[in-house]
Amino acid sequence: MAAQGAAPSLKEVHERSIRERESFWAEQAQLIDWNEPFGQVLDYSRPPFARWFLGGRTNLCHNAVDRHLAARAHQPALIYESTEVDVSRVYTFAELHREVVRMAAVMRSLGVGRGDRVIVYMPMIPEAVFAMLACARIGAIHSVVFGGFASHSLASRIDDAEPALVVSADAGSRAGKVIEYKPLLDAALQLASRAPDKVLIVDRGLAPWERVAGRDEDYATLRERHLDEDVPIEWLESNEVSYTLYTSGTTGTPKGVQRDVGGHAVALAASMKYIFCGNAGETYFSTSDIGWVVGHSYIVYGPLIAGMATILYEGTPLRPDPGILWRLVEKHRVSVMFSAPTAIRVLKKQDPSWLAKYDLSSLRALFLAGEPLDEPTARWIAEAIGKPVIDNYWQTETGWPILTVAHGIEKTEPRFGSPGMAMYGYDLRLLDERTGEEVGNNEKGVVAMIPPLPPGCMQTVWRNDDRFVQTYFSTVPGRLAYSTFDWGIRDDDGYYFILGRTDDVINVAGHRLGTREIEETLSSHPAVAECAVVGVADSLKGQVATAFVVLKDPSKAADANARLALEGELMATVDKRLGAIGRPNRVHFVTMLPKTRSGKVLRRSIQALCERRDPGDLTTIEDPGALEQLRQALGAAA
Ligand code: AMP
Repeated sequence: MAAQGAAPSLKEVHERSIRERESFWAEQAQLIDWNEPFGQVLDYSRPPFARWFLGGRTNLCHNAVDRHLAARAHQPALIYESTEVDVSRVYTFAELHREVVRMAAVMRSLGVGRGDRVIVYMPMIPEAVFAMLACARIGAIHSVVFGGFASHSLASRIDDAEPALVVSADAGSRAGKVIEYKPLLDAALQLASRAPDKVLIVDRGLAPWERVAGRDEDYATLRERHLDEDVPIEWLESNEVSYTLYTSGTTGTPKGVQRDVGGHAVALAASMKYIFCGNAGETYFSTSDIGWVVGHSYIVYGPLIAGMATILYEGTPLRPDPGILWRLVEKHRVSVMFSAPTAIRVLKKQDPSWLAKYDLSSLRALFLAGEPLDEPTARWIAEAIGKPVIDNYWQTETGWPILTVAHGIEKTEPRFGSPGMAMYGYDLRLLDERTGEEVGNNEKGVVAMIPPLPPGCMQTVWRNDDRFVQTYFSTVPGRLAYSTFDWGIRDDDGYYFILGRTDDVINVAGHRLGTREIEETLSSHPAVAECAVVGVADSLKGQVATAFVVLKDPSKAADANARLALEGELMATVDKRLGAIGRPNRVHFVTMLPKTRSGKVLRRSIQALCERRDPGDLTTIEDPGALEQLRQALGAAA
């Protein structure tokens, strides 16, 4: 134990958080406001489902906005910076409050109530944040769909969520190019089997849009009608649903990750204190997008709950020049920054003088997450900005870091190549995939957690408890354990290293994509008989998708021109249905895929060949000629 009076170490805090789980989290729960106190801290009577802070009544919007009005009404809360449309606008907590209440009033006027779902399909504009917070205020469940997803992806999420309302915009803008949202939304609503009655459009004047009478409403018009209306906070029981966010897995259908209210608020408040060390009145800058979990936790809720101003940045790291992120740090005296390794690798290719141009003295640390952080990139950025660079590993499912260093508890040094140590609350184990036994230090195992999962983690899969149990808790033999589907290794000092996925999920520029989803999309093209998609290492994006396609009629790809045309068509199919984010970098045509005798596609071997590695054990292959074809296709493309 720590010497008397000395602060406990991270290891001690971690041990206590597991041993005295309930008293540990009851203490953390004091970081937020409760309208009614909770009784029982944890109900774990139905493993693996955990229910936190039973009977407590609270509200995320209250904790993120209203709570701060007394002490900091006139301090910045939401800072909108758009290099796309050249707008810079600061909303104080009082102004944010007003706008959220107006949005809430508009939603209520459209019939949205407690427990109803609202799909938010929006570019990075303030109204997107107002919409999320307005849902939280009235107890509606938001489901943000990343703006880069196209009509089919959106339609499948609409079908699963059955929303009462979709909030969207005429258009977004990326790298100076207008991206129309409304036509994609209209197409998605056509495809969806149960379209909502109402669609609310924020008209930015970027693209003309067609109004569907009786369904589409213009936000500015309705806002005017509800300018001064009051919408009180809806106090929710801690375990009511705050939001769902869809994430890819090994099947073609994304899962709706469902989060609660109280546990979510407590976990984020604790992470702001112990991990990000952000103080009220300071500024937080996450370069992510509200369509991802990082945007939920660390653009919107986390910083605001902590009383910090948060930057909502609509733009890329390179426009108008590669100094833009650091210029924003200087301009808003940012103290905590959060980005992704891909963004840093993009900057690494630019003139390094951009990093020395701005005053970064306010910045205490740069957090990076979402994909493996390679050591050269980590060293480069740490030296270039002269600040600690803190890797952190987590998932959409957990909502906050599983592995990192927690400088609010102990000043442990980060180690390059390692995202860090187990965070408090996570009973983390490395398990043997065949036996379920724990592996020793320096041995490879599946990164797993013994439930109950801590507050803030997903409650279940939206409307599908079975899928939650089947997907996450049924892969480790002999014991109930949550699998992260990542391989890992732990050194003797407790630092973990992530070694890649155990499943077929790939990670492109920090975004998780299921190869099945891309395969199903390619297979929807009438010329395709079957296909396989694998993730291939890429120096910029971490991984890219590469596709191998078997055509129904191979003569359709007989010559180079025909192949090129068909490749273009298949890529356009992915753009249209899934979004450009899922587009493979190459589509190769073969007449058969390498499979086992039982018909399973040998993805690992395909991936190895793409990365010019040894394809591994091929004793089960049905026809070795398939591998030869692959080699030839790759050789021809090289
Ligand atoms: P997502 O839920 O989309 O954020 O993806 C989570 C997955 O991204 C994890 O299961 C890992 O495979 C990967 N990942 C996230 N953060 C890191 C990190 N810091 N280091 C290595 N892999 C990471």
